[in-house]
Amino acid sequence: MEKTWLDSIDRLKGVGPKTSLLFNQLGIKTVKDLMFHFPFRFEDIQVRELETILDQEKVVLMGQVVSPPVVTFFGRKKSRLSFKLAVDDFQVVEVTFFNQPYLKKQIELGQVRAVYGKWQEVKQSLLAIKIINQTAGDDYAPIYHATKGLNQSQIIKAIKQAFTDYQNEIEEIIPGFLNDQFNLISLKEALWSMHFPKQEQDKIQAQRKIIFQEFFLYQWRLQRAKQKRLHSNGVEVHYQVEDLRQVIQTIPFDLTHSQKKAVNEICRDLLSPFPMNRLLQGDVGSGKTLVAFITMIACVQAGFQTAMMVPTEILAQQHCQSFNNYFESSGYHAEMLASEMKEKDKQNILQGLESGRIRLVIGTHALIQETVQFKSLGYLVIDEQHRFGVGQRQNLLEKGLSGHQANVLQMTATPIPRSLAQTLYADLSVSTMEGLPHGRVEIETQVVSDKHIDWVYERMQNELDKGHQIYYVLPLIQASEFMEQVENVQETCDRLKNEFPQVKVGRLHGQLNKEEQKQVMTEFKANQLQILVATTMVEVGVDVPNATVMVIQSAERFGLAQLHQLRGRVGRSSLPSYCFLIANPTTDQGKERMVKMVESQDGFELSRADMEIRGMGDVLGRNQSGIPVFTYGHPLQDEAIMTAAYQSVGQLLEQPELMTTEEAETLEKYTQLIKLEI
Ligand code: ADP
Ligand code: MG
Repeated sequence: MEKTWLDSIDRLKGVGPKTSLLFNQLGIKTVKDLMFHFPFRFEDIQVRELETILDQEKVVLMGQVVSPPVVTFFGRKKSRLSFKLAVDDFQVVEVTFFNQPYLKKQIELGQVRAVYGKWQEVKQSLLAIKIINQTAGDDYAPIYHATKGLNQSQIIKAIKQAFTDYQNEIEEIIPGFLNDQFNLISLKEALWSMHFPKQEQDKIQAQRKIIFQEFFLYQWRLQRAKQKRLHSNGVEVHYQVEDLRQVIQTIPFDLTHSQKKAVNEICRDLLSPFPMNRLLQGDVGSGKTLVAFITMIACVQAGFQTAMMVPTEILAQQHCQSFNNYFESSGYHAEMLASEMKEKDKQNILQGLESGRIRLVIGTHALIQETVQFKSLGYLVIDEQHRFGVGQRQNLLEKGLSGHQANVLQMTATPIPRSLAQTLYADLSVSTMEGLPHGRVEIETQVVSDKHIDWVYERMQNELDKGHQIYYVLPLIQASEFMEQVENVQETCDRLKNEFPQVKVGRLHGQLNKEEQKQVMTEFKANQLQILVATTMVEVGVDVPNATVMVIQSAERFGLAQLHQLRGRVGRSSLPSYCFLIANPTTDQGKERMVKMVESQDGFELSRADMEIRGMGDVLGRNQSGIPVFTYGHPLQDEAIMTAAYQSVGQLLEQPELMTTEEAETLEKYTQLIKLEI
C-alpha cells in the first residue's frame, strides 16, 4: 500500500488499536491529524541562573547531584525525597519532592540532572515538581490536550514516531511563489516547530505559516465559489421602479438612509445578469426586515417567485403578518409555510408554489423539504442566517430555476466593520446598515446579582404600572438541561405570578407544541399577557414594540452576540427601555462580557469585543454569532495575515499560471479535504 500522511495512525510503530481509539476520541485519525495536534501551551524549561529567579517562581534548575537521594516517610502514605544539587561551583541547593518516593531510582550521585519546580528563596531550595529529560538545546516542553488513558509522554512519543516515519510524506499545500513572497517556512519545518521549537522565534515562524495556510485555504474556497457564481446564469429581475416607489410611499414611516442604500444595492444586483449573493448586516432593530420585504416585492413585480426562510415558526408568522399589514393594500400577499401546519393547508401552499399561483412565501426550514417545488423562483432571503447550517442554505439554493442560480440575500444581526467583512466574507457582497431608525432611545442596562432581585422586581413593577410589557429569559446551554429548563420556566412563571398578581404571566418554551407557542405569542403581542417567561426562543427577530423590559437570568452563561440579540427585543419604539442582566460571573471572560454589555449598545463594537474575548475556539462551545471561528488563526489578532491570504487568492485566481500544475493539484486536493463550517 502506498504510504501517505493520510494513513491511519495505527500504522505507526507503538500505536496499537487501543491507543488508536484513544487518539480517535481526541479527533485524531490520520498521521496528518496527529501532526496537527499542537500543544495548547509550552512549559518554559530553559535552565535559569539562580540570581535571576524570584521567590515562588516556577523554573528549571540543572546541576550535579552532590548528595545521595534520601527518602523519609511520615504519616500515612506521605514521603519526602531530598538531595543536593550543585548548580555551579559555588551554589548548592536543596531539592525536595513530596510523595514521589519512586523517583529515587532516577537520581544518582554524580549525575547531571534538570529539575522543574518552585523556587523557595528563603530556604534556597527547590520544591520539585518533576524531573526533566532535557535534550540539549530544547527550551520548551510541549503540553497537549490528553484524555484518560493517554498521557503526555505517550502523545509525544507518537508524534515523534509520526515525524520519523512520515516526514517525507508531508505535502506542501501553499504554492511556492507565496512561500517566497511572504517568507514562509516549509510546512514540514512549521509542523515540527509547532511541537518542538528550539527557541521563541521558531514558534513564531511556525505559527505564521500554519495560520497563513488556514486562512489561505479558507479564502481559496470562498473566492473560488464566488468566481464560479459570477460565471453562471442568474435570474434578471426587471422590476418597475415607479411602482416600487409607490409601494414604499404607503409605508407609515420614512425609510432610514441606511435602508434606502441597502434597497438600492440589492435592486442593482437583482437587475444584473449575475446571480446575487449578498449579506445584509445591520444591528438588532435596524430594520432589515423591511429592506427584505421591499426587494421581495421588486421580484414579484418582475414576474418571479420569492421566498424568505426564517429559523422559527413564530418568526415566520410574525413576518407574514407584518408583510400583509404593510402591503396587502397595495396588492401583495405573503403566504406562510411551516412543517407543523394542517396537512390540507400545507398541500394548498405546496400546490400554489408549484403552479406559480403563490408569488411570495415566508417559511421555516420546511421550505427545503423535497416536496417543495417552485415554478419560477427568482430571489431567496435567509433571515438570521447564523441559525442555519451551510447545508440548509445550500439546499434552499437548489430550489431555483434549473440552469439558473437564484439571487440570495442573507441577513445577520452580528455586524462587523466593512473592511473586515469584505475579507472575512469574501464570497459575498456586503451591505452594511449603520444606526437605528429615528427616535430610538438607549436601553438602560444594569448587571444585578441574584441577591438584589427585589430591586429588579421594583423596576419591573414601575414599567407594568405604565402599561408596558416584560420579557424574562432563562438560559439553555446544553440539550441535556432541556427538561430542567422546562421546570425552571414553570417555577419562574409561578414565582412571578406571585410577585405580580395584578398582571398575567405567560410562558414559552420548546416543550409546548407549535399551536401553544403561537397562542402565547399572539397573546403577548396583543398585550393580553404582560410578562413572558421564555427560553432563548425569543432571541431571534421577535418584535413587540410595547415591551420595554428584558430580564436575563444567569446572563453570564450567554455569549455577547446572543445577549445583544436578546436585549434588542426591547427598545423597539421611542419608549425608554431597560435590560437587567442577573448575573454572578465567576470567570474573567464572564465579567468582561457583563462590563461590555453595560458599556456599549453598538452591535459593531460588541461583535468586535465578542471576537476578542472569545479568542481562539468558542468558549461557549458553539458559535452564536455567525462569524467564522478558526482553529489556529484569529481574524482580528491576525488581521494582517488574513488580508495577505485574501489578496494572494485574488492574485492567484487572476493569474493561475503563478502555480505549477502539481501545486494546483495539491491545492485542489486539500480544498476538498479540509472541511470548513462557514
Ligand atoms: P432587525 O433589523 O433586527 O430585523 P426589524 O426589521 O425587526 O429589525 O425592525 C425593528 C422595528 O423597527 C420594527 O418594529 C420595524 O417595524 C421598525 N422599523 C423599521 N424601519 C423603520 C423606520 N424606517 N422607521 C421607524 N421604524 C422602523
Ligand atoms: Mg430581524
